[in-house]
Amino acid sequence: MRKKLFIPGPVEVREEVLKEMSKPLFGHRSKEASHLQREISNKLQRLMYTNNGILLSTSSGSGLMEGALRSCTAKRAAIFSCGAFGERWYEMALANQVRADLFEVEYGKPIRGEMVKKALDSARYDLVTITHNETSTGVMNPLAEIADTLREYPEVVFCVDAVSSLGGVKIPVDELGIDICITSSQKCIGLPPGFSFCSISEKALEAARGVKYRGVYFDLLKLHEYKMKKDFQYPFTPSLSHMFALDSQLDSIMAEGLDNRFRRHKVMAEQVQRWAKDKFSLFPEEQFASTTVTCISNTHNINIAELNRGLAEAGFVISNGYGKLKEKTFRIAHMGDMTVEDIEELLSAIDHLLITGGIYTHA
Ligand SMILES: *Cc1c(COP(=O)(O)O)cnc(C)c1O
Repeated sequence: MRKKLFIPGPVEVREEVLKEMSKPLFGHRSKEASHLQREISNKLQRLMYTNNGILLSTSSGSGLMEGALRSCTAKRAAIFSCGAFGERWYEMALANQVRADLFEVEYGKPIRGEMVKKALDSARYDLVTITHNETSTGVMNPLAEIADTLREYPEVVFCVDAVSSLGGVKIPVDELGIDICITSSQKCIGLPPGFSFCSISEKALEAARGVKYRGVYFDLLKLHEYKMKKDFQYPFTPSLSHMFALDSQLDSIMAEGLDNRFRRHKVMAEQVQRWAKDKFSLFPEEQFASTTVTCISNTHNINIAELNRGLAEAGFVISNGYGKLKEKTFRIAHMGDMTVEDIEELLSAIDHLLITGGIYTHA
């Protein structure tokens, strides 16, 4: 039976968008390919509130994260982490011999501007990475506050992992001074997985010019230069099928209206948070609870795997906690094209199982 996805990626993809993926192809060196990629880039600039260039990547978002870190760090990266995806940046730095330091906060807590300031005052760093929305803990970091802090360090390249927030929450890239803002297709954008994109500033490109070994496939400078020279094309064969879907999805997003889309995400988040506080409790500090995914403390010690088995019969799936938070927490995603009605259906199905489902580990 088909299960509606309430997991933080991949999300539900609308039927019309899936159909776009099956359109007949054309060559990636054709005029049509240039036109398509130019159109998408223009639309993404609107979605991201930026005049910076856009890079399209036939990879999931982690590819661009690794590319950003490796291409643009000449000196040393300061990596701020409040969960598993923050730690991923650090793992990437180590594996690429990018010099980096990890600054961590306890799971459930956010990264604050003050913490960033303290680290940058040492003048050791030329690149900073921030996870905007930490999908593993359900924390949405205060990006505006962090951006304000970073304004005091104009030489530092500001990289943001916006994989699980861009498209569901307003991220005014230029206003915030973000140099590289990365997202994946399969979260708030509402597409199948396997594609990602980022904005990249002149400052980030200039930083990359000072880095000798930037790899090949994710050399962001090379991607940019190739794109400029070859009318929005890329050096490697891209997934045009994803691009058909992305182009059409961006039209749908604009038709919904960005403000309406962001408001819908807010309403869904409030709905799930209200339920979570009533039935369980929120894992993150409430003030920083995410607008796109809610991480719920398993205060009744229910069996999450069992809960999902029950939900599957009703046609739904949610997420267990991530990594060391497994069974201690569970997560409900409310992102992409999901509606308030979808959330209501899910929550009543969970409520039903809480009463009848035999999902309590300890009776
Ligand atoms: C999902 C996710 C990623 C990983 O993205 P992929 O597209 O799977 O590479 C990175 N960061 C955050 C915050 C995520 O939610």
